[in-house]
Amino acid sequence: MEPRGVLIVGTGNAGVSLAARLLRDGAPDVAVVGPQPVHRYKPLLNYVAGGEARMADLERPMRDVVPDGCEWIRDSVEAVDPAAMTVTMRSGRTLACSTLVLCPGLVEDWAATPGLQEAYADGWVASSYVPGSTPTVWPRLSALRAGRVVFTVPPEPASCAPTALKPLLMACDHWRRTGVLADLEVRLVLPGPTATGLPRADEVLERAFDSYGIEVLRDSRIERVDPDAHALTISSPAGRRVLDDVAFAHAVPHYRAPRWIADAGLATDARSGLVDVDPRTLRSPRYGSIWALGDAAAVQTRPSGGALRRQVAVLAANLAAAGRGKPLREYDGYTVMPITVSRRTLLLNEVDRGGRPSPSVPLLDPFEPRRWQWWFDRYVLPRIYWRRILRGRV
Ligand SMILES: Cc1cc2nc3c(=O)[nH]c(=O)nc-3n(C[C@H](O)[C@H](O)[C@H](O)COP(=O)(O)OP(=O)(O)OC[C@H]3O[C@@H](n4cnc5c(N)ncnc54)[C@H](O)[C@@H]3O)c2cc1C
Repeated sequence: MEPRGVLIVGTGNAGVSLAARLLRDGAPDVAVVGPQPVHRYKPLLNYVAGGEARMADLERPMRDVVPDGCEWIRDSVEAVDPAAMTVTMRSGRTLACSTLVLCPGLVEDWAATPGLQEAYADGWVASSYVPGSTPTVWPRLSALRAGRVVFTVPPEPASCAPTALKPLLMACDHWRRTGVLADLEVRLVLPGPTATGLPRADEVLERAFDSYGIEVLRDSRIERVDPDAHALTISSPAGRRVLDDVAFAHAVPHYRAPRWIADAGLATDARSGLVDVDPRTLRSPRYGSIWALGDAAAVQTRPSGGALRRQVAVLAANLAAAGRGKPLREYDGYTVMPITVSRRTLLLNEVDRGGRPSPSVPLLDPFEPRRWQWWFDRYVLPRIYWRRILRGRV
């Protein structure tokens, strides 16, 4: 079996932009593995759920985004043998490689919330996080005139979890403008005591929750769903509470990394299943030729597409440096959690691993909601994504 040079598992934001970057830097032999025929720019899913974008705005055929010169193996990894440096795929094929990069993202943990998947199938629960359901969110939200509506932010690990507030706050603004907000009982279920854990961002968000009259259930999560009664059982350290007769719930499932990572002995822990890497160099502490980035990597910061811009640059540099025995570069944990505070203003929330402000535009306060930031996030970033980020140019 002739080993591949660099084998990248995952064709999401991480896998495609890393492959493009490596090829641009002159790597001769780069292959990506991924089963999906469609590539999605996920941040726009929240704008679809908020009535500000269509699915067609965020989807492209995968064959159009895999970079020229990169082999695309349209299959799904089911096992990794880290000592032998091989991966085995659903088709039964086994591939060997010299360098293995893991970036398969997260998978829904439906078993964590009994009844939730049935409620999605019934249609009274949907969310921006489950793309098959996303186009139904805004028609349901915008048709509400009265009743109880529930939104959730998923617990970690989750993909840029605080952005699940975008559909909530865009909908509240819409309901206020159309005069129905006072007739709606809006509930928000947060996994922690506050929305982001960043004091300045939380201050802005708490003001927004107050002004829209949202009741916030803190340190809480959905324990189970009764699809027939349209009821959600919410658990918190204070006990259980049942929210019944729910007209609509934007309830995000819980997530974990794919199980084959833990089965290969590559995970930090069995519950999250995230790939154990040095959060600064992105290299496995046990296997020097295995690396990881993106939502599936334990990098001790909130995962986001913005974080990937930095991770891709660091990992590409480190693969080259490792080959030459040079010192490795370090990722500072930069991440971003853009949240729409109204239909046209957005808070960027750019921070480093310690939660310190880390603005991309020098001196710009990342905790100040601004209109231009909304336009940038909705209209400019998607263009940068397709034209530059996925082509390894950022
Ligand atoms: C609703 C939503 C809104 C978001 N909003 C923002 C935002 O506003 N700003 C921001 O910066 N970030 C945002 N994010 C986060 C951002 O989209 C993710 O951090 C980013 O997409 C992660 O990329 P990834 O490649 O690590 O994972 P993914 O995008 O999940 O890609 C993983 C890929 O691996 C493939 N794969 C899975 N299992 C296997 C396997 N066994 N074998 C081979 N391939 C496999 C999958 O098919 C997929 O193509 C949002 C995410 C979501 C879900």
